[in-house]
Amino acid sequence: VISKARRFPASPPPVEQVFPGIWSIPVPIPNNPLRYVLTYALELEGGGIMLVDSGWDAPEALEGLEAGLAVAGATLADVRGVAVTHIHPDHYGLAGRVREVSGAWLALHPADAALIATRYGDVDELLGQVAAWLRGAGTPEDEVEPLTRSSMEIREFVKVAPPTLLIGDGDPIAAPGWDIVAIHTPGHSPGHVCFHERRTGVVFTGDHVLPHITPNISVHPQSGSDPLGAYLTSLERMLSLGPLPALPGHEQRFPDLEARVRELLAHHEHQLEQVLELVVAGADTAWEVTMRFPWSRSWDRITGFIRRAAIGETHAHLVVLERRGLIAHEGDQPLRWHPV
Ligand SMILES: [Zn+2]
Ligand SMILES: [Zn+2]
Repeated sequence: VISKARRFPASPPPVEQVFPGIWSIPVPIPNNPLRYVLTYALELEGGGIMLVDSGWDAPEALEGLEAGLAVAGATLADVRGVAVTHIHPDHYGLAGRVREVSGAWLALHPADAALIATRYGDVDELLGQVAAWLRGAGTPEDEVEPLTRSSMEIREFVKVAPPTLLIGDGDPIAAPGWDIVAIHTPGHSPGHVCFHERRTGVVFTGDHVLPHITPNISVHPQSGSDPLGAYLTSLERMLSLGPLPALPGHEQRFPDLEARVRELLAHHEHQLEQVLELVVAGADTAWEVTMRFPWSRSWDRITGFIRRAAIGETHAHLVVLERRGLIAHEGDQPLRWHPV
């Protein structure tokens, strides 16, 4: 999920073979500005397909995935494994359905696997935590309930399925004919992983690094205490890979991962400066900072889940500023921020 949509290509990219044996398949996300998630099908030595991500659980998505696999000369039954970058519905939602048809293994990082039950199962406890967090952020009382429930609709697009494999940082992925390792890149999600295919040099970046839009990095009850700090560290780790070709989860593939990572690091430094200026100017809650922040559209047009994600993103920047010793906070409901 992304809070700051800017440019989108005019139409989804075609199903295409982007490297020998690697197919890019845009899977539709109905009624969503992102419009599609890019899943990737890797032809395995000895037959079969491994998927990176799956799309979400909707009939149009399943049809799109099947149609894309057909272009690659495969069917759902050929899928041997689904390596999932993170548990957001657009990446993980359909994986359980694919596993039902094919018996494929399903791999997730343990930090995201641990969130499945509370997020997609019995959510009462999580909803209470979200409401408490929103109050801590200074959200006006009449907005707390609707914003708390704003993520509920999206849960329908997940076929809840436990992973059959847990993948940690540096773990190899069992994909015959390929040399793939997982890189743990927490930030957008605590268990987000990228996959580095070392034979071609290509990196599957999920939502960690996208070519134009910036992924939402939010404080929320399942984010860990400093998600932006984690994200910046995860970005810095990508720099050591160098200028490799990237296959992202949205938009389109791009040729230089390192250059884009540097842009994202600069973007967040700039956003940290903007948030600090607002706190210095007297905005003393995450809500106040968020309302005054120069988003790409006006505040009254930022509604529902996007509004909640914006508050979470501001909060994430406040936490980093505090860790850097530039601001501090008091209180709890709400947390009140001030410069030091
Ligand atoms: Zn995501
Ligand atoms: Zn996504």
